[in-house]
Amino acid sequence: MSRLVMKFGGTSVGDVERIARVARIVAAERKPGRGLAVVVSAMSGETDRLVGLARASAGETPNGGGLPAKDFNDEYDVIVSTGEQVTTGLLALALRRIGIPARSWQNWQIPFRTDDAHSKARIFEIEESELGASMDAGVVAVIPGFQGVTDDRRITTLGRGGSDTSAVAVAAALKAERCDIYTDVDGVYTTDPRIVPKAQRLEKISYEEMLEMASLGAKVLQTRSVELAFAHRVPVRVLSSFVEPGEPNPGTLVCPEEEIVEKQVVSGVAYSRDEAKVTLLGVEDHPGVAAEIFDALANANINVDMIVQSEARQEGRQNILFTCPEREAARAAETIEAIKGKIGVDEIHIRRDVAKVSVIGIGMRSQVGVAKTMFAALAQKGINIEAIATSEIKISVLIDAAYTELAVRALHTAYGLDAA
Ligand code: ADP
Ligand code: ASP
Ligand code: MG
Repeated sequence: MSRLVMKFGGTSVGDVERIARVARIVAAERKPGRGLAVVVSAMSGETDRLVGLARASAGETPNGGGLPAKDFNDEYDVIVSTGEQVTTGLLALALRRIGIPARSWQNWQIPFRTDDAHSKARIFEIEESELGASMDAGVVAVIPGFQGVTDDRRITTLGRGGSDTSAVAVAAALKAERCDIYTDVDGVYTTDPRIVPKAQRLEKISYEEMLEMASLGAKVLQTRSVELAFAHRVPVRVLSSFVEPGEPNPGTLVCPEEEIVEKQVVSGVAYSRDEAKVTLLGVEDHPGVAAEIFDALANANINVDMIVQSEARQEGRQNILFTCPEREAARAAETIEAIKGKIGVDEIHIRRDVAKVSVIGIGMRSQVGVAKTMFAALAQKGINIEAIATSEIKISVLIDAAYTELAVRALHTAYGLDAA
């Protein structure tokens, strides 16, 4: 018996006609000896609508307010997880309508166990025996993405874009041959095809590169889904849900590095506008100050990314710049304000109109001059770099957000990624 997991994102199940096409795509994958599980997202726009309702009910306005996370997140999960439940029922009906036995499985029925970190829960176990037996008996299992259940039977969700993670986790638990992620693009591209029309579909991409691409902003796959696929060696294919069965749809295979013969120096360019820059001017310059600052930020659950430290004009003082997600910036500033007495900071500034642009490639490990090409291409467009971060297979720069698209296009061209 083999098993295949298929996942369809929000746009792919956006209306009843699209759901009917999804049913045809699923039907085409059915064959004797193969069990099918289909993971679905909420219909496009639905999760945003539900998030809006939850916030409004908690009294949140565009100017703030609402409830603290500890009083909000558990019920937020109850509300936003319903979008996926609707789609499971709709797809099960669409499958039955074309003669395919199917049933929905809500996460508490499987169960799909997560920790209790509401709104960003992590899966720790999927009890697959009943589910797998039903699939093996020829009934297509339709499972809601994004949601889980805690040991004390509260509903959780896995963070925005979490249906990808649900699908990969189900594939790992079921020991599926592959996890096919159907979406509104026909694969993983060298960069977001919405902003660079000359972007090219990649035939294959390594787990490592996909992990960097996702965590640096390419939302085609949720980062956690790639981590799970990498850890459990689940082959993942990203392909279009807008193609009728039988038409060519090769997509992109996310696979181990060893399966990629020609390793590109740069395989892709990613960007993220969800960045804020926090600058601390005139911080005392002695051992333990950085530890004090970043310890306080970690305790406040702030995701610090880039860090740059430089000498200040005054003797014995330094300036520290760090970046974090935009929505965490105000809290970051408050956290620093609270330890002001210990670190002696003169001024705290927040800038929200910044973006991070990154180039990613496994070939970078063995190639010199990659950074130089990046800096030269940006300089040629007059784009100023405010911070730099590197790893073995990526280089990221922080720039003025107004130049995001210009920078992405310039880098795409500079590394020879443009389609002919
Ligand atoms: P789904 O609803 O199917 O989960 P998402 O909207 O989450 O789909 O992800 C698909 C989108 O990701 C595409 O429409 C595309 O704009 C965006 N994207 C960003 N970077 C890339 C990339 N490198 N390759 C493909 N798509 C990308
Ligand atoms: N519906 C959820 C979201 O919009 C999960 C997903 O689509 O992956 O974030
Ligand atoms: Mg998605």
